[in-house]
Amino acid sequence: MGFFDRLFNRDKHKDECDCGCKEHEKKVVDVKEPVVTKEAKAEAKAAKAEAKAEAKAAKAEAKATKAEPAPAESTNPLDAYPLLPGAPPGGKIKLAIYWAAGCGGCDVSLLDTDERILTIGDMADIVMWPIAADGKEKDIAAMKDQEITVSIINGAVRNTENEHMAKLLRQKSLLVVSYGTCACFGGSPSLANLIPGGKEELLDYVYTKCGSMKDFQDKQSKPVIPQTSVMTADGEITIPMLYDVVKSLDQVIDVDYSIPGCPPTQESIRHLLAAVAAFAYKGEALPPKGTMIGVTTKTLCEECHRKKEMRRITKIVEPHEIDVDPELCLMDQGILCLGPATVGGCGAKCTKVAQPCRGCYGPTKAVTELGSSIFTAIASLFPILENDPTCGEDEIIDIMSTVRDPLGYFYAFSMSKSLIKRSVVEKKGGQ
Ligand code: SF4
Ligand code: SF4
Ligand code: SF4
Repeated sequence: MGFFDRLFNRDKHKDECDCGCKEHEKKVVDVKEPVVTKEAKAEAKAAKAEAKAEAKAAKAEAKATKAEPAPAESTNPLDAYPLLPGAPPGGKIKLAIYWAAGCGGCDVSLLDTDERILTIGDMADIVMWPIAADGKEKDIAAMKDQEITVSIINGAVRNTENEHMAKLLRQKSLLVVSYGTCACFGGSPSLANLIPGGKEELLDYVYTKCGSMKDFQDKQSKPVIPQTSVMTADGEITIPMLYDVVKSLDQVIDVDYSIPGCPPTQESIRHLLAAVAAFAYKGEALPPKGTMIGVTTKTLCEECHRKKEMRRITKIVEPHEIDVDPELCLMDQGILCLGPATVGGCGAKCTKVAQPCRGCYGPTKAVTELGSSIFTAIASLFPILENDPTCGEDEIIDIMSTVRDPLGYFYAFSMSKSLIKRSVVEKKGGQ
């Protein structure tokens, strides 16, 4: 009995079935093993060889046409960016990417360019990118001044290493791009500027007061707090020193372009790559120094789909506390939204999904103080009517006191650039 006979229990069926049914006949025919002649085998071999040769030719053709621009109908913003035909005529440019005080999201947004990252590899030698490539500080230090074409720096300047690398990359680069909200405005790391006691208070809180450190600290003879220099049997170990004040990149070095966003959108990355590619491949002029890439000239409210009715605020709420109306302005619903003071460009990503704007794109050109500008916008929405006893100063204070962390809310991304800058403790004698 053959394999198929055993598998389909054919003989059993045949033995047991004496009905002579069509079904029995059909099953036998269906599983019959084909008879393969020598000629058929040779024919199949020839067809296989032909198919292989055709596939090889198609692959070679695809390789030759690799530099073709992406189809115009693509909806991915990066597809509008022309794919690069190998290295630029003058040779590959040099690109450095550095991560200062940030969360890593900005680096990931650059990786988010998908396979287009390979075309960046065609255009540029990546001389430093701590998250994805080798290239050490000493390699950069050994380069000639302005040898790097573009340095993209994300994160705020929070410690001595951040400052040293920012200054070194500035010296070695033709262009420096301040990438992401932390680099542009201090971002969330700059909220540490609100700790009155500076880095001592911060370190003390994180290492001795936080519950997660309790078990560790309980086992020590005295509280253990990181030191910038420790002598060991193998020599001195050093770590960067924290600063009391977190700065934006342009408060430490001269920057050529800024791209806000937490992190920047693919659309903004496309604009940057297109400008650099036009410069590297065609020698086209770069955008004017100081250009803020990926922003509009108006506020976020201008690109938000929500309808503004300028309703008066009588109660401040969080989105999870109400059924958010999908069409009505969030401010009209009592949700504090920083859209009126934030520059447009992101496409109102947050308000589209019923979350208030927190201002990650930073202020418009007309605004120097994002936080106080939003305070003003909110003030205009309180129901203060002449001779109306129902909303006086006390009532307004009552409403505003329901905002749990006003400084953290209104300066979530921009404390380094605010006029407040930082909190301090007033010492005796008024100092
Ligand atoms: S801007 Fe946002 S995504 Fe970028 S490093 Fe700062 S916190 Fe992270
Ligand atoms: S305040 Fe916020 S929700 Fe209202 S229109 Fe402006 S961006 Fe949209
Ligand atoms: S809506 Fe505001 S917080 Fe959200 S991405 Fe846009 S600028 Fe940033």
